[in-house]
Formats: sequence, structure tokens, C-alpha cells
Amino acid sequence: MSSVLIDDLIKKIKSYNENADFDLINKAYKLAYEKHKGQKRNSGEDYIIHPLHVSLILADMNMDTSTIIAGLLHDVIEDTDVTYDEVKEQFGEEIADLVDGVTKLKKLSYKNKEEKQAENIRKMVLAMAKDIRVIIVKLADRLHNMRTLEYMTEKKKIEKATETIEIYAPIADRLGMSKIKWELEDLSLRYLDKDGYYKLVEMVNKRRSERESLINGLIETLYKNLKEVGIECEISGRPKNFYSIYKKMNKKGKLFDEIYDLSAVRILTNTVKDCYGALGVVHSLFKPIPGRFKDYIAMPKPNKYQSLHTTVIDSNGETFEVQIRTYEMHQTAEYGIAAHWKYKAGVNKTTSFDENLTWLRQLLEWQKDLNDPNDFMDTLKIDFFADEVFVFTPSGDVLNLPEGSTPIDFAYRIHTQVGNTCVGAKINGRIVPLTYKLKSGNIVDIITNPNSGPSLDWLKIVKSPQARKKISQYFKVKDRDKNIERGRDLIEKEAKKQGYQVHRIVKDEWLEEVRSKMNFSTIDDLYAALGFGTITINQIFAKLIDIYNRYNKKDGNVKSSYSGSKKSANNHGIEVKGVDGVNVRIAKCCTPVPGDDIIGYITIGRGISIHRKDCQNIINNTDPSRLVEVSWRDTDLASYQTSIEIRALDRENLISDVAIRVADSKLKISYLNAKTVKSGDVVINITVDITDTSELERLIEKLKRVENVIDVYRIKA
Ligand code: MN
Repeated sequence: MSSVLIDDLIKKIKSYNENADFDLINKAYKLAYEKHKGQKRNSGEDYIIHPLHVSLILADMNMDTSTIIAGLLHDVIEDTDVTYDEVKEQFGEEIADLVDGVTKLKKLSYKNKEEKQAENIRKMVLAMAKDIRVIIVKLADRLHNMRTLEYMTEKKKIEKATETIEIYAPIADRLGMSKIKWELEDLSLRYLDKDGYYKLVEMVNKRRSERESLINGLIETLYKNLKEVGIECEISGRPKNFYSIYKKMNKKGKLFDEIYDLSAVRILTNTVKDCYGALGVVHSLFKPIPGRFKDYIAMPKPNKYQSLHTTVIDSNGETFEVQIRTYEMHQTAEYGIAAHWKYKAGVNKTTSFDENLTWLRQLLEWQKDLNDPNDFMDTLKIDFFADEVFVFTPSGDVLNLPEGSTPIDFAYRIHTQVGNTCVGAKINGRIVPLTYKLKSGNIVDIITNPNSGPSLDWLKIVKSPQARKKISQYFKVKDRDKNIERGRDLIEKEAKKQGYQVHRIVKDEWLEEVRSKMNFSTIDDLYAALGFGTITINQIFAKLIDIYNRYNKKDGNVKSSYSGSKKSANNHGIEVKGVDGVNVRIAKCCTPVPGDDIIGYITIGRGISIHRKDCQNIINNTDPSRLVEVSWRDTDLASYQTSIEIRALDRENLISDVAIRVADSKLKISYLNAKTVKSGDVVINITVDITDTSELERLIEKLKRVENVIDVYRIKA
């Protein structure tokens, strides 16, 4: 039986390519025959029947010798002991790569998943096949398997039919291979909805017998009239695609009778001129239906489909669709991208891969215009070959990642926790470094260690924005923990420093009161703010002392341990002329620092407040008798708070850069606030502790050099 088939194959190839390398084809056949010997198909036939049929399908498409041979050998690497190197040695690299490509596609595991999943697999199939002929062989392989599906188990039938309709038929469609697409769809439907399929076949047949004479009459009329004007042509009734009728009836809820172009004829001519001539004849015989005429010859679809379409109505009110095209256009219409690879006499070399890529890209572009939102090509970018890789989880899900992605990107795509604890990865079962660049088709298994965390270096390695974001987030949160810790420490240290027993002043319910007064949502937030430095220990501790005093007064302890341990007089290193031991405060309006010209103002009941001499409050003061001369004591290095204002154009990270500059200067920030003013500028107010003006000057100079900063100055009251 098989010897008959190889003769058929040779004969078929000879019919379109006399000069094919028949020796090489025979050699491939012999190798496949020898190696598959003893293997059986489910039908009970020898295995060799299958590759022979696959090559026959390819020969039907007039494919080149390499593709035919790849069809004969497509299962040898997978199912026999033949290796890639042996195929390469005997048949050359081109054929070896084709066979290898088909083998790889076969390893794709497919589970019936949601649409998104099917879409990813379709994309992956296209992305994996570096040579589009791999897909053509794969489709021929699938077609023959679908034709012989009846020998499979019920479960396998459903599985294969689902996979075919969800993955392979759409691919055939997108590659313009409509003939194969139709057959794949109809074969799948037969197994997926047996009753629906046979009911439809019955309806079409019934309708056909009703209409057969009509169609035959139409063909006869057309043929006669075309011959009269000297147009040589072939006319045929157009074959029906059951699945497309089925889909229209089910998805669009149309009745069988409403499906319009059920009757169709196709006219094939030798020349383009004859196409238009034939169109004239058709329109002179029958009335065209407005809006149904399309000229894809003058304006081909980007996938190179060319044809004239028109729908006409006869004197009995019957409508027919008529397609008119040349034989060559017909090849493209039936076989799509495969027609591009087909052997042409006199052309030795098949089209280069780049040209095919262009072809495919145009096709993808065109597909974007289709109105079906579920169309998988819709989501394809023109450069998907270059920009994406498609990889498997160990359970067979397909994920798409940017080109150059690493196992770390993959891990973060699975789950943040998997990313954070990722320590290694296996690709197809083999351990690889985390810097490994994923390739389409890889099965990725992530090794985690719950005690491990991400590294900052990962930010340089990862490709996906998602992974980058999650790694940064991890470190932000981790720093938050540190800041909370630091804030808690600061409070305890301050308590000890001021002579309190920690547990007697740092009480949860009191901290809760402080938190609510300072508008933080949690106590941790309060600690974190303190630890980071957005608020000062003084702000918190003063409030805690207030509460402490309130409770202890209630208990009758008028004299608190705080007031007892308080230094006799905090003079901030300021000498008031002629007075000793007087309470002085640094005025908040102008926050003078050592080196500033200062003056004292005698307040009512709150001691002397120290202002800068140029402070507006002093200048506007109407009671000179309250002013007193003061001066800085040289020896005192106590720190002082002062406020500066920064004006800047907004940009990312502006505030943190400013904060870093302040922190670099070893100055302590006790207050930081930023706002956007009407002009659109950002105004940042910072209060820092400094010991003298030169220190402040240095800081101001530093801040002026921060990118986007317009001006920095001390705030005067
Ligand atoms: Mn096969």
C-alpha cells in the first residue's frame, strides 16, 4: 500500500515540478520507512502512511522539495532514534531545521483553557516557527491526523478537535490558507458537535438538491455567454464550509435560510482582463445587488488575496454570490502564505525569510482592522517576533514576557511572593542562572526559598516593568520596617535621656492619643515618619509629656519627674545683656542661628524670645521697651532649628533628592513639607537643626545644585 502512495507522491510532484530532487525525496522516504518500520497508526496501518499523506497534502499545495521532504521526515526526530545531526548530515541544515521546528511545536502541551490562553499559544506557535514552512508542515500534519481522528478514543477526539478549532484553524486562517482552515474546522465540528454537524450536512444537502439544477443552469448560462465573448474559463460551484454556516447560525442567531450566499459560483480565468470581462458578462445577465460588489483585484488585501466579488439576483429572485479571479490568484486564495513558498518553474531559490516576514507582518497589520474583537491578531503588535517570548509554567500555562526576560520576570509574573523568594530556576529541567534569557517554548520551573529575598541587582536584570515595580516595592516596604524600628528606638532613647522609665511614659494608649492628634492612621505610621525624619522626636515627646503630666497631676503628683530633671534654664547658648539664668526661646518666625544678628524680646510670662534683627516682627514692634540686647555665646555648640524654602520645577524624585542632600549634610530634618503653588512650581519647606550659619550656607549651596531647583533661601518672618 505504501509503495503505491510514494508513487502517487512522486507523480503529483512531477505534475508541477519536473526538476524536483527525486533522489533526495526517495532517500527521505526510505529513511522514514526504515525508521518507522514496526510502528502502527491507531487505524492499524503502518506508520509510514502518515508522513506520506502529510507530504501528499504539501504536494497538493505545490510546495518546494525541502518542505515535501520535511513532511516525510516530520516525525523521525520525535518518534525514532534519528537525531537532528543525522538529518542535517543527510539532507542539509534547511531540512533539518524544518523537521526540528515541527518536532518542537509538537511538544506544546495544550489544555482547553480560556480564550486568552488559546491566543497565547497561537502567538507562540507563530513566534516559535522561525521558518513559516514549519507551520505549513505542522498544519498538513494536523490535517491528516484530523482526517483519521475516528480511530482515537472519545477523549482524544474531543481534545484534538478542540485544539484544532482553537489553535490550528485560526492559524491557517491568518496565514490565508482557507482551504486547509475549512477542512480543519469541518472535521473538528464533526467531533465537537456531532448532532449539529450531521443536521447541518443534511440541511445543506437538501438545499443543494433543491438548488443543484439552479446552480447548474446558472453555470451553463455563464459558460455559454463567456465563451461567446471569447473568455476561456473554468466555472464551479463554491464548496461549502459547514463550520462557517454553523457559526453564523449559532453566534449570530440566524436561521439557515437567512444565510445569504449559500449558493455561489466561482469563475477562474487566465488573465486579469478576462476577470473584468467576465464581470461585465455577469452583470449584463443578472442584476447586481448594490453594496455587495468588491474589487479586491484593484485593491488587494495586504495578504495578497485578489478576487472580484459580486452578488446577483436572477429573474426568479434567487441570489448567488459570484467570485471571479485568475488561476494564480486562486492559488493564493486557497493556500495563502503557502502559495508563496510553492515551487515555481525557473525560480530556483524560494523567497527569503525576510520577505516572508514582511508578508506576515503585513498580514498582521491587516488583521488588526478586522472587526472581530476576539481575533487573536488584534492583540498582536507588528513586532511580536522581536518583542515577546512565550514560555510555559510546569503545569502547561503559557505566559508571554518581553524579549530578554529572565526567570525572575517569570517568577514575578506567577506571583509576587514567588518572585520575592526566588533563588534559582530550571529550564526544561536543567538549572540555569537567574540571568538566563528565556526563549519561546521554555518550560520554566522556579526554585524558591521562603527565607530568601530579592536583591537590588535584580533591578538591572529584569525586563518586565511589573517585576521592576515589585522589586522596588519590596525594598520600600522593607525600609519602612527599618524606619518603624528606628522610630520606636528614638522614643525609648529620648525617654531615657530625659530621665523617664520607658514603660511609664511610652504607653500604648498615650501613643494612640498622640497618633490621633498628629493625624497618622496607625502607630506604625507614626514610628515610620519619626524614623524617616518627617517629624521630630520633640514633636512626639512633648505630647507624651503633656499626657504624662495630666495623669500624674490627677494623681496628686504635682511635681513631675520631668520638671525635676529639667535643666535649670535652657539659654540656647545666648547671653542676655546684664541678666543671668533667664529663660530664652528661639523665635519660630525667623529661627535665628549662631552668627545671625539677634535681639531679644521680653514676652509676657514666657521669658525672652530671640529674633533675628531683620525679623519683620521686630521691625514692626511698637514697644521698644520690650527689646533687649542679646548675643551668642562662642563656646556653646547647641543646635538650632532654622527653616529654608526651596522653589523648584516639579519632577520625579525631586523631594527625595532634596531630602537626600539634607541628609548627606548630616543635618537633621525636623520638618519637611512640599506643596505645589499656583505658578506650578513646587515649594519645599524644610526645618533643620544647625549649629552655625556657615553650615546652613553650605546646605543652601548644595540644594541650589539639585536638578530643577530654582532658588533656595532662608525664610524670614
Ligand atoms: Mn505527525
